[in-house]
Amino acid sequence: MGIKIRHKALVFILVMVMALGLVLPAHADIDDYYDDLESINEQLEEMKENRKQTKSELDRLRDLLDDLDREMYKAEEELKDLEDKILAMEEKIAEQEKLIAEVEASIAETEEYLAIQTEYLEQRLCAMYKNGSVSYLEVLFSASSFSDFLSRFGFIRLLIESDTELVAEIEATKASLEADKELLAEELSLQIQRHAELDAARAKAEEDKSQLNAKTLRYEELKEEVQAELAKQNKGIASMEEDQKQIEAEIKRLLELERVRAGNPPSFLTWPVLGFDRVPYNITSSYGWRIHPIRKVWQFHPGIDIARYNRRGESIGGKPIVAAASGTVDFVRSYDGGGYGIYVLISHGGGYQTLYAHMRYTTVKKGQVVTIGQQIGVVGTTGSSTGNHLHFELWVMGEKKNPVEFEYK
Ligand SMILES: [Zn+2]
Repeated sequence: MGIKIRHKALVFILVMVMALGLVLPAHADIDDYYDDLESINEQLEEMKENRKQTKSELDRLRDLLDDLDREMYKAEEELKDLEDKILAMEEKIAEQEKLIAEVEASIAETEEYLAIQTEYLEQRLCAMYKNGSVSYLEVLFSASSFSDFLSRFGFIRLLIESDTELVAEIEATKASLEADKELLAEELSLQIQRHAELDAARAKAEEDKSQLNAKTLRYEELKEEVQAELAKQNKGIASMEEDQKQIEAEIKRLLELERVRAGNPPSFLTWPVLGFDRVPYNITSSYGWRIHPIRKVWQFHPGIDIARYNRRGESIGGKPIVAAASGTVDFVRSYDGGGYGIYVLISHGGGYQTLYAHMRYTTVKKGQVVTIGQQIGVVGTTGSSTGNHLHFELWVMGEKKNPVEFEYK
């Protein structure tokens, strides 16, 4: 007899599970679901631990790439600085070469001048030497007077002295120019050396930069791989969490069914309009005394009105109404009229009942078994109503209680 009842209950659960169209494998025993849930929870923990490691690896790579970026910026600045210096040095070298060319031209001119003056001097000395004292005497004897003689003699002496002085001066100028040229050439060789050093520094900086580039590319690639891995892990976790949620919902349903079968009252309810959270804003009329919105007289409001729109701005009209707990449909009024309009009354066991009024239409029939969260209708404004809302009542042993004083999960 006991076995038969348990068998019946099992078939009942199986039928319920199938009726709900669950994608999960339908287990006969709730313990199997608990086993599944435990295994999923363990897997999730491990997956999340792995993801934590992936995230910290990604953080490490991001820091590395940031450092490389900074280094790259510095390397580029250095390279730019070196290129500026090289350009400046090249300009300096060109100027120096110009200066040297100018000095060389001056030296050539001086040499030419020197050659001419030396020639003059030699000619004069040669003439004086060849003719010897004769020529001098000639000069002297041909003087018209003593003073003329003195002046003639002095003139020749002065001429030679002047020629000699000039040649010496030109030679000194030439020597000074050559010294200048030597100094300039020395400077030039230093500049060329510095230029070569700068060139070498630039080559090294370019090498450093290309190494940084290669390093950056390598880490970028690695980062992309880790990011792809993270996306994969996120997807895996999301899918696993979806399974977890479904199994949890299934366990909740099975527990509810067991409770209804045992005739125990529900230990909690679920909010009867999907997506319309239990916030004061959505409760437009509370349980208790109020002025009736249509008849304008004091009246006891035996339930709560859930209305307006949800956080996404969607109006409540047409939204699904769900069973606040598992149970059996006690009564359905499927046509408009009366105060409640289209409404449904469900018994949950232990003397608990819930009532859902002003529906646009209902999706259940009298005597049907419903599970917690299952859709039973759609929000409308049938019956004595001023707009789309759900009038929700909670009865305990036939007494209308304040629904918000009950626990919701
Ligand atoms: Zn109401």
